[in-house]
Amino acid sequence: NISASRPVIRQLDETAINRIAAGEVVERPASAVKELVENALDAGASRISIDVADGGKTLIRVTDDGCGIAAEDLPLALSRHATSKIDGSDLLNIHTFGFRGEALPSLGAVGRLTITSRIAGAEAAQIRVAGGRIEPVKPAALRTGTVVELRDLFFATPARLKFMRTDRAEAQAISDMVKRLAMAEPSVSFLLRDVSGGGEGRVSFRSDGETGDLFDALHARLARVLGRDFAENALRIDATREGIRLFGYAALPTYSRGAAVAQYLFVNGRPVRDKMLTGALRAAYFDFLSRDRHPAAALFIDCPPVLVDVNVHPAKSEVRFRDPGVARGLIVSSLRHALAEAGHRASTTIGH
Ligand code: ADP
Ligand code: MG
Repeated sequence: NISASRPVIRQLDETAINRIAAGEVVERPASAVKELVENALDAGASRISIDVADGGKTLIRVTDDGCGIAAEDLPLALSRHATSKIDGSDLLNIHTFGFRGEALPSLGAVGRLTITSRIAGAEAAQIRVAGGRIEPVKPAALRTGTVVELRDLFFATPARLKFMRTDRAEAQAISDMVKRLAMAEPSVSFLLRDVSGGGEGRVSFRSDGETGDLFDALHARLARVLGRDFAENALRIDATREGIRLFGYAALPTYSRGAAVAQYLFVNGRPVRDKMLTGALRAAYFDFLSRDRHPAAALFIDCPPVLVDVNVHPAKSEVRFRDPGVARGLIVSSLRHALAEAGHRASTTIGH
């Protein structure tokens, strides 16, 4: 029977599409935290608190004091490819963390999501979605900003549920993610609490918004996140070449680590993991470190958005430079210069 075996092409329904997209956007609880905190930052929040339970598997709650979402926009926030951040006409000029309009619909398709929000001059409202089923908007109570609560991540996708690691490992990944975002935004106050088992919870990371100029604020934040020791052993980096600026702090070779664990790279304020950039970092320290040691650094590359494509991967942790050579050369030469100068200073001091 030919007709029984003939493939039939069907349009997938919205929930199925969102679950498939969730597979790319939300790999694990830490990626959900990333999406929600980035939304809070995009909303102009100055205080962000993150509560998680059981490694984020049962609860992730992000509370911000940002601009909020209007009650009538709440259903749109949950609909796919709906965003307030770009209008689609200029994909080469993106200044926000988000722009794809995928995170909330994806999270709502694989978990139980409740968004409560209030914009200035209006009453608060709430919307819920669980496993893709959206409930009507209803009135709520909230002083300001937005609270996004995600419960039972991946309950609707059992296969994905199985891939989660231990609560401890997931909690660790969340803490790393929050710290990266905290480094990217020194002026914003962050609070990360583990509320497993209910109650007040246990603070796993806290940092008030830092004040002062770019370098003062960044230095203070790095001391918070990476420790006083890093901050006291870090060289200030600031160099610009062909429209690309590199700034931040790179540790003295004596502060190096046995593993590449303290390397934080940001492109236009976005935490990234990029082989080319970490390769450049390694190359810069090549003459200053033995083979089994790894440099520690927090480095920011700022460039006109047209010189770098962040739309390479749904999670946006990969970037593509139009001219990778310039970024690489800038890192290698400015770090080498700073390290050589520091080495020279040290040797003349000892010589005296
Ligand atoms: P994107 O961030 O790519 O726009 P999301 O699915 O993450 O897509 O969010 C959809 C929309 O919901 C955002 O464009 C924004 O308008 C709104 N939104 C989400 N989170 C917040 C928040 N914490 N504060 C204010 N608005 C928010
Ligand atoms: Mg977003």
